[in-house]
Amino acid sequence: MMRTHRGGELKTSDVGTTVVMCGWVGNRRDHGGVIFVDLRDSSGIIQVVIDPSDEGLDVGRRLRNEWVLRVTGSVRERPAGTTNDDMATGQIEVGAVAVEVLSESEPIPFPLDDRVEVDENLRLRHRYLDLRRDAMQSNLRLRARVNSAVRLAMEAQGFCEIETPMLIASTPEGARDFVVPSRLKPGNFYALPQSPQLFKQLLMVGGFDRYFQIARCLRDEDLRADRQFEFMQLDLEMSFADQQDVIEATSKAVVAAAKAARPDAAVGEVGRITWHEAMDRFGSDKPDIRFGMELTELTAIFSATEFRAFADVEAVKGICVPGEADATRSKVDALVDRAKQLGAAGLVWMRVRDTENGVDLESPVAKFLTETERKAVVVALGAVPGDLVLIASGERHKTCQILGQIRLDLGRPPVTEGLAFVWVVDFPLFEGLTDDGKPIPAHHPFTMPHAEDIDRLESDPLSVRSQAYDLVLNGWELGSGSVRIYRPDIQQRIFSMLGIEAEEAHSKFGFLLDAFAYGAPPHAGFAFGLDRLVAILAGEENIREVIAFPKTQSGTDPLTNAPTAVDDKQLGELGLRLLPKKA
Ligand code: ASP
Repeated sequence: MMRTHRGGELKTSDVGTTVVMCGWVGNRRDHGGVIFVDLRDSSGIIQVVIDPSDEGLDVGRRLRNEWVLRVTGSVRERPAGTTNDDMATGQIEVGAVAVEVLSESEPIPFPLDDRVEVDENLRLRHRYLDLRRDAMQSNLRLRARVNSAVRLAMEAQGFCEIETPMLIASTPEGARDFVVPSRLKPGNFYALPQSPQLFKQLLMVGGFDRYFQIARCLRDEDLRADRQFEFMQLDLEMSFADQQDVIEATSKAVVAAAKAARPDAAVGEVGRITWHEAMDRFGSDKPDIRFGMELTELTAIFSATEFRAFADVEAVKGICVPGEADATRSKVDALVDRAKQLGAAGLVWMRVRDTENGVDLESPVAKFLTETERKAVVVALGAVPGDLVLIASGERHKTCQILGQIRLDLGRPPVTEGLAFVWVVDFPLFEGLTDDGKPIPAHHPFTMPHAEDIDRLESDPLSVRSQAYDLVLNGWELGSGSVRIYRPDIQQRIFSMLGIEAEEAHSKFGFLLDAFAYGAPPHAGFAFGLDRLVAILAGEENIREVIAFPKTQSGTDPLTNAPTAVDDKQLGELGLRLLPKKA
C-alpha cells in the first residue's frame, strides 16, 4: 500500500496515529536543523516536520518545491504558539520518521499560489502544474459534483443515458461544422456533432421515451470568454411530452446541480417569462433578472407630443437609474454615444429634481416636453429626486434592445453573483427575413410552431410563435430546446418556407424524415451548457477556468500545440492536397 492517509484529511483526533502519506512539497522551510515541509495532496496540506534526529534529515535538506514524497510519520499536536487557525490542519503536524523521494521536480515556471496572477498562456502551456493550484482543484471537483448531481437527477426521473456518435453527417444547429476527412472514402468527410440533435430524435422513434446524455458538442465558431469549440451539454429528449414536461425535468436537473455546487446558496424557483415580456421589460431574450432598472413603456405619454424625437415613433421606452441625477456631463454624454454606437438615433437624459413645482425633470430638452408629459414620465418610471432618467425611442424591438444593453452596462452585477434562473418561452419562430424575403429560423428547423399560430405560417411568418424555450442564468443563456415537429406535412411547410428544397432536405436529413414515416411519437427536448453552468456556480467569468484542458481564445492549445500540420503521407492517405498558403 502506497499510503494510509491523505494529509489534508487528518484531524486532531488522529493525534498519535502512524500515517503514510504521499504528496508534493508545497513549501519547505529550513529552521536551523529542523525542516518544515508543507506536504500537499488532493485533500489539502499538512505540515511535516523533519527533526535533526530523524533519519530523513539528509533527504530533507535536498528537498525542493514540487518534489513528490512518501512520508511515514506520526500525527502530533503542534507546540503551543505555533498553531495556524487559517489552515484546516493548522492544529496538528506529522513528525516524520521516514521521507522517501518518489520524484524530483525542475524549478517550476510560475508560482502555484492562487493569489499570484499568471499569464494564461503560460498556465495553459503547463496546465498539469496549473491544475495543482487550489482554484483549479476546487473548480474541477465542483464540476464533477455538478455532473454527478445532474446524472442522478435525470436517472431519478427515469431518463436513460445513451451515447451518440462523434463521426456523423452534419447537424443543423446553424454553426460551422468541424469536418474529419474519411480515409476509406477519400473525398468524403464526417462532421463532428454540433449536438446530438438528430440522434436523440431518432432515439424517440426508437422507443426510448426519456433520453439524456452529458454530451460533447463541437462548433467551429469564434471563441469568447463563454465559448469554446468543444463544450459539454446536458442533452435530453422526451416522448409524449410537452414544453411543460421538459421545463420541469430540466429545472430539477439544474436545481440539483446548483445545490451540489453551492450547498449554502439559496436557489429559488426557476421563473418563467415570455420572450415578448423579456424584450419589453429587459430588452433582451436572455434577461438578467437579478436587478431592477426595468424598461418602462412611455409611448402613450407621448402620443400627441410636439417633441420631434418622440413623435410618430413605434415606441418610447425609459429606464430610471437610481441616484445618478448628478452624473457628470461627460458621463451622460458617454451614455448618449453608447446608445448611438448601439444604433440609436439618440438618447434623452433628464435629471430628476425636487423643484418649486414638485418633482420635475431637468435637462436641455426638458423644455420641449410639456409639464404633463414630464410628470407622467416621473410617475411611470417611479422616479424620485436624485435619479437619472434615460429615454430611447424608435422602432420597438431595436429601442428595447438598445435600452436593454444600456441597462446592463449601468447596473449589471458580476455574472457570478447570486443565482437567478429563468425560462424564456414563446420565442418567435423566425427572427427576421433574409434579403430575398426568406424567414430566418430562430432555432433549428425542427422546432414546432405554436399550435394557435400555425395557420399564419405562410401569411404572417414573423408573428408566429414557436414552442421553443431557453433557460437563462444571471443573464447568460444556458441552453435551449423545443417541441419538435413530428408531422411530415408541417415539416415540409417549414422546409419550403426556408427555401430548403425537397432534394436538399432529403440529402441532409432524409434519414430523420424517413424515420418519421414509421410512427414518430410527439417529442420535445432541451440541452444546456454545463461549462457555463459550472463557471457561474464556481464564481468564474471565464469558462476556461472550469475546463481541464481548454483552447485559448485563438483556438490553439499551448500544451499540445494543436492544431498541428499533418505530413504528406497522411494527407495522401486521405486523398487530400493542401493549397499553397496565401501570401
Ligand atoms: N440541439 C439543441 C442545441 O444544442 C438543443 C435542443 O434543441 O434540444 O442547442
